[in-house]
Amino acid sequence: MCGIVGYTGTREAYPIIIKGLKRLEYRGYDSTGVALLNGKLNVYKKKGKVADLEEAVLGKNLHAHTGIGHTRWATHGEPSDRNAHPHQSAGGKIAMIHNGIIENYLQLKQDLSNKGYTFQSDTDTEVLLNFIEEIKKNNQCNLEEAVRIALKRVTGAYVILLLDEDDPGTIIAARKGSPLVIGIGKGEHFLGSDASPMLEYTKEVVYVNDYELAIVKPDELILKNLGNERVTPYIQKLDIELAAIEKGGYEHFMLKEIHEQPQTIYDCLRGRLDAMEGTITMSGIQQYAEQIVNANRIVMIACGTSWHAGLVAEYIFEELCRINVEVEYASEFRYRNPVVHKGDVIIAISQSGETADTLVAIEKAKEKGAIILGVVNVVGSSIARTSHGGAYTHAGPEIGVASTKAFTAQLAVLTMIALKIGYIKGTIEEERYRYLLKELQEIPEKVAWTLNHSDNIKALAEKYKDAHDFLYLGRGYNFPVALEGALKLKEISYIHAEGYPAAEMKHGPIALVDDKLPVVFVATKDAYHEKVVSNMQEIKARKGKVIAVITEGDESTKAICDDVMLVPEADEILAPMLSVVPLQLLAYYIGIARGCDVDKPRNLAKSVTVE
Ligand code: GLU
Repeated sequence: MCGIVGYTGTREAYPIIIKGLKRLEYRGYDSTGVALLNGKLNVYKKKGKVADLEEAVLGKNLHAHTGIGHTRWATHGEPSDRNAHPHQSAGGKIAMIHNGIIENYLQLKQDLSNKGYTFQSDTDTEVLLNFIEEIKKNNQCNLEEAVRIALKRVTGAYVILLLDEDDPGTIIAARKGSPLVIGIGKGEHFLGSDASPMLEYTKEVVYVNDYELAIVKPDELILKNLGNERVTPYIQKLDIELAAIEKGGYEHFMLKEIHEQPQTIYDCLRGRLDAMEGTITMSGIQQYAEQIVNANRIVMIACGTSWHAGLVAEYIFEELCRINVEVEYASEFRYRNPVVHKGDVIIAISQSGETADTLVAIEKAKEKGAIILGVVNVVGSSIARTSHGGAYTHAGPEIGVASTKAFTAQLAVLTMIALKIGYIKGTIEEERYRYLLKELQEIPEKVAWTLNHSDNIKALAEKYKDAHDFLYLGRGYNFPVALEGALKLKEISYIHAEGYPAAEMKHGPIALVDDKLPVVFVATKDAYHEKVVSNMQEIKARKGKVIAVITEGDESTKAICDDVMLVPEADEILAPMLSVVPLQLLAYYIGIARGCDVDKPRNLAKSVTVE
């Protein structure tokens, strides 16, 4: 995964790079490093977060107008000082940072070792760097040419940024499979894994494409393909504001993002949903409406939390559109030989739009003639660009590693798509369609209600924070919510938690129930409510602790439970956007009560750009 930053211009590079790395820490935080080029290269790197590096470089020479920086999520070699990026070539004159994996690095390493190279780290990155240096030496060429030749021989995914003492002021960058944005200033350029490091300096950016190489100087940006032909940079305007990536008074990004949900869902519906007129305007869906209506099946492809959004959407699409839906883990889909027919509709769901497995999975399906629709948050991201159509979630930057507002925004978008298609197809009655539009429009307010009635959750967290395991159970539309609740708890509190369909419990997990096991039910009022209440009784009969998300005013269910969290009444199709909110808060407060770093949970990173 990793975050990368680069700067070349007239300002001091170090503070810009450090600030940028802090914004990109969501992508990895195993180690941090910078390379500053001021005649000579100065490389500083350290295991740990950006703050640890800042402390380590106090008093060092940090003066330079050109530099690169990296925050790592280790794939090859443990997190340590020596495996931290930037790496320096054996000759010492080139420094490089890398986001991705070089798959054939062992072979390259062997060849270089035979030529006498030794390595200072265990990374694939250092191998690629020395391979580039070797080509530069042998071919007597400049760095740009050496990079181009090298990249034709490597397999895998990368964004690389390089500095060369022989060419001060220039950053060479290249990309395949990992994201790279270049910000254009006056007499200066900024590089980043996303646009956040450059927000206060420029609004003009270029998203570099796969197999492109950039030669970046203070007053010049040249883009080329690997065939050494010039490519015209496509300059886009950013519409993110700085405030959107700051904490705004909240203690953690995760809490801020949970509380933003009334607004983010509203933003997602705004300009699209018109309950009065009975219309849903989504041009990226409208274009493919006929194909979706006639599709034999829809395949949702996603990972993690987005996969849970896909599961909720499966139920909604089947109900409203009467189309067969399958939900696939991207990592599995891409490596088997899936049956994809021309005209199948694939919906790729990803917050970052850079999820490596999802990206490759849709590329494969696209080759087979499927129509690809992207439901992604990050505008201009790789999945967005690879898809034929789709819809952005408009949730704004999500920095907390555990996804919250992106999930509810994904549900809002997927629900709108299902409503639109169901209506065109005639599989949903006019009255129900109109009713659901109205109800959907009220969801932001109901999420706000849920947040305003969540004061008891902190105390609940204190009560249950020492449990070793949790079970999460739900039925129907709330089953994926149970999975999502369990995932949130695992991610940020490191407590083992599993989600199951409530009825499945009897086929195994019930053996775990004793007086110490908290069982969280997602038990809002819906068609299966009575069944879920029976499942609660079965847990109670075995002395398990029952905590439940219930509908406000449901006194009889409340009476059975040890503890409850409330949501307002809503149609069952829309209920997941509400019932997940208390579970996000429960995970958050348990994580805090256990002293965990909830915004940067151990071993995780936000944008999974490695497979
Ligand atoms: N493969 C490189 C390393 O392990 C980069 C990792 C990444 O981008 O996640 O250092």
